[in-house]
Amino acid sequence: MSVTVIGLGPMGHAMAAAYLDKGYDVTVWNRTARKAGDLVARGARLAPSVEAALRANELVVLSLTGYDAVYAVLEQAPEALAGRTVVNLTSDTPDQARTAAEWVAGHGGTQITGGVQTPPPGIGAPGTSTYYSGPAGAVETHRAALEALTGIDYLGEDPGLAALYYQIGIDMFWTGLVGYLHGQTVARAYGVSARQFREHAVKSMDFRYFVELYAPRIDAGDHSGDMENLGMAAASLEHVVRTAEAAGVDVAIPRAMLDTFRRGIAAGHGRDSLTRLADVLRG
Ligand code: NDP
Repeated sequence: MSVTVIGLGPMGHAMAAAYLDKGYDVTVWNRTARKAGDLVARGARLAPSVEAALRANELVVLSLTGYDAVYAVLEQAPEALAGRTVVNLTSDTPDQARTAAEWVAGHGGTQITGGVQTPPPGIGAPGTSTYYSGPAGAVETHRAALEALTGIDYLGEDPGLAALYYQIGIDMFWTGLVGYLHGQTVARAYGVSARQFREHAVKSMDFRYFVELYAPRIDAGDHSGDMENLGMAAASLEHVVRTAEAAGVDVAIPRAMLDTFRRGIAAGHGRDSLTRLADVLRG
């Protein structure tokens, strides 16, 4: 029931707050110390240095912008990593996660890599989860402390796996979210408010049917265009581009998709399903 949280951006702050809510003894450190103010008022201890933060607890949760920041922080006191478990919830590439796990191990510590699948309000709330990978024993030892933040989606021993799954998911998330914002921009340009379109957007963005239908077909290389095809999709996307353009909305994003569809058509796949893009995008 005792933990150190390093990094108090919106995520790390929510994590420290969740631990306080659950009665943990919490030590925090952040480059910008004032972000700890309200947590200290609630009983957290603000460590005066990275070294003191690391030495305060066996379990250390890291939540920073990227792994450059991880090294900028941990290199201030690498010797204090010995015997500690670092739950690294910082986003970066799978290779960076593997390299950092080796680096931490080289200093006598253990890294559990994590990829959090919820925004800050989901921390400490039911029904959320985080990808974890790294030593199964360390995850088991700290199960209760990890579950104080979110559920555990354990992927295996490879420290890069949690980062990989996180990046795949966030690739889909950013693309979908920007599509949503582009659509709302078109709506507003035509005098339809974002709120007016909200319920329609929820339906338009429900891809579950395609997510499930396409997965086995992608794996099987089955691109039969029995329901939709790239030729139809390109024509449809041209209508989207023209509708947006007519209202003066930036069309760089739908044009990038249209170019991708056209590459597939130029390669002779105009009558194939959109699943063919899984080949086209690999180059
Ligand atoms: P932020 O980018 O806001 O986190 C910033 C934290 O990193 C702050 O504590 C900041 O310190 C610190 N930091 C950045 N650079 C350095 C540096 N060079 N040296 C020391 N400290 C540094 O991100 P979030 O809190 O939103 O997220 C944390 C991680 O969680 C990120 O990897 C993010 O991708 C991931 N994530 C975020 C989600 C979200 O909804 N926010 C959802 C899921 C994952 P300072 O305060 O001094 O600037």
